[in-house]
Amino acid sequence: MLFGAHCSTAGGPHKALEKATAIGADILQVFVKNNFQWFGKPPTPQALAMYANALAARNVHCVFGHTGYLINLAAHASPNRDRSIKSLIQEIEFAEALGLPFLVMHPGAHLGLGEAAGLKQAAAGLDEVFAVTKQSSVRIALENTAGQGSCLGHRMAHLAAIYDKVRKPERLGVCLDTAHLFAAGYDIRTPNGWNAAIREVTSLVGLKQILAFHLNDSKTDLGSRVDRHAHIGKGKIGLEGFRVIVNDARFRKHPGCLETPKGDDLKEDVMNLKVLRGLVRR
Ligand SMILES: [Zn+2]
Ligand SMILES: [Zn+2]
Repeated sequence: MLFGAHCSTAGGPHKALEKATAIGADILQVFVKNNFQWFGKPPTPQALAMYANALAARNVHCVFGHTGYLINLAAHASPNRDRSIKSLIQEIEFAEALGLPFLVMHPGAHLGLGEAAGLKQAAAGLDEVFAVTKQSSVRIALENTAGQGSCLGHRMAHLAAIYDKVRKPERLGVCLDTAHLFAAGYDIRTPNGWNAAIREVTSLVGLKQILAFHLNDSKTDLGSRVDRHAHIGKGKIGLEGFRVIVNDARFRKHPGCLETPKGDDLKEDVMNLKVLRGLVRR
């Protein structure tokens, strides 16, 4: 697995590449605009040029995006769902400008609509987005979730249902978050548990659909359905769980991205990357 972390683009997208290099990351995840706002300004030609220069100068293998936190396609029709669709279209345009291969997105919360209807809404929303952005090669990597409240995506069957319903499943992918898997009840602390989870993804959507991993330990218990990320080895999954994950030969070239708590000096990222790399068998 190629290791890295979510990096801030404050000051321009090239700043995220600088941070990634500073912490020794091979891959990184970014937000393509403010993650707590519906809309943003597209990157300027100057910002894109600085980003391209930084990318060429640094040894980063893969940069991908994560969508903003307001976007929710799975709820009933409402002004917020309309804004979610427009916001996602804008994010795909920004991701395209930056040359990102995919954006990680949560399937959304059904907010009382029920699971089946929520998944239908999510797929219908993606259909609208993919129709407007049909020239784009940017994919949406559906992320599994912890399943808090009415959030969909805590069962692999939810992701599979979206694949089955969308008109262009080739625009989709999957991002597996380890803390979310564990909180959702997938016991990935052992080789058997990890393999069972991957087998489920393989049988429902296909192994090739997995585009990335989020490597987070979990502060909360197995099946708690509560999403709290812990430093690698300091949570309930533990080091032995991550040893299995990072040595899985099927994912040798896959990005494994930290989303663990950190301060401005990023020393926690450095520490977590060291822990992850220390688990890899040579
Ligand atoms: Zn996420
Ligand atoms: Zn995640």
